Amino acid sequence: MTTPAPFKPPHRILLGPGPSNAAPSVLNALAQPLVGHLDPSFIRMMEEIKQMLRAVFQTKNQMTFPVSGTGSAGMEFCIVNLIEPGDEVIIAINGVFGTRMADVAERCGARVTRVEAPWGQVISPAQIQDALLKTPDAKLVGVVHAETSTGVENPVAEIGRLVKSSGALFLIDTVTSLGGCPVKIDEWSVDAAYSGTQKCLSCPPGLSPVTLSERAMEAARNRKTRVQSWYLDVNLLAGYWGSERVYHHTAPISMNYALHAALREVLEEGLENRWRRHRQNHLALKSGLAAIKIPLASAEGFQLWQLNAVKVPDGVDEAAIRTKLLSDFNIEVGAGLGSLKGKIWRVGLMGESSSRENVRLFLSALCQCLNESGAQVNAAAALAAA
Ligand SMILES: *Cc1c(COP(=O)(O)O)cnc(C)c1O
Repeated sequence: MTTPAPFKPPHRILLGPGPSNAAPSVLNALAQPLVGHLDPSFIRMMEEIKQMLRAVFQTKNQMTFPVSGTGSAGMEFCIVNLIEPGDEVIIAINGVFGTRMADVAERCGARVTRVEAPWGQVISPAQIQDALLKTPDAKLVGVVHAETSTGVENPVAEIGRLVKSSGALFLIDTVTSLGGCPVKIDEWSVDAAYSGTQKCLSCPPGLSPVTLSERAMEAARNRKTRVQSWYLDVNLLAGYWGSERVYHHTAPISMNYALHAALREVLEEGLENRWRRHRQNHLALKSGLAAIKIPLASAEGFQLWQLNAVKVPDGVDEAAIRTKLLSDFNIEVGAGLGSLKGKIWRVGLMGESSSRENVRLFLSALCQCLNESGAQVNAAAALAAA
């Protein structure tokens, strides 16, 4: 074969469900020289990552570190360590990621009670209360905080209070929420949480920040059976990420540099400022869309700031507009999944991608695409409203 030319990616504006655009400091970190995974400088950096993650997760949990792998690896990490075959678990399902959580739990041998709500609606605390009454032996309750497939935020703070009084462990998926809206692990009595780097932390995909409470660690230590996964066994990983520093697997060196840089960006901006920025840009987008009579598909009052489920107007070809946004404007947005396929665009305003400039750019580009396809929308009105 002839050697292909060097790969030159286009410069996209990433307004989909992730990855989001990374800050220059993060991309720069990826280009730094490699060191060994037991190098004293690397070990110092690991400690700083753990400290910064605790600040971002708002927790004192000792066991807080990035699992090597994407968000789904973090999901698998939490479940495989906490669940043994035959355990009763309750999983809330109102989108793709709740469905995935139930799938992973069943593969670990759990007996899963599904608590469901239609896609685009929230899981109510009353539904969880009901399930807890019917399943008094439940060992764990799992809820997706920010359901990226539908743009809905589940009420995890309220659910946390119910789970706490039941004695079960509380697991939440914060892949899309961390860095984009409040996530308060200790205040909400969360025992286990996982996230991802490529959404509101604005780092490339490849690591999954996780945190486990002391109760969760006890459950992992006191298992009757060995953790099915060698790679994700927290009892082994603790040897490397804890004080012993024994080899388990080679940490993805450069990805950890990138996460260190991304967490610095988050903390330099300040959590409150960052949440406010996400909220303001969401509201601007929503107002702009309302001016051209395009509503969001997710339940009012529970709409995510970082992921907007934008209703495709009647008679408009969802995929054609999405393709045109990419080819003519370099803007990536996401398609609907499952029952929302063809009905929504998923417009992410995550991390670095959440800017006033991107909101305006997206609205003008969308209006132009819609008008070229025969619809009649007023771009000036959308921009004025935004
Ligand atoms: C993206 C996402 C995941 C999966 O993360 P990957 O990095 O794609 O493995 C899990 N949960 C939610 C809510 C997500 O948005």
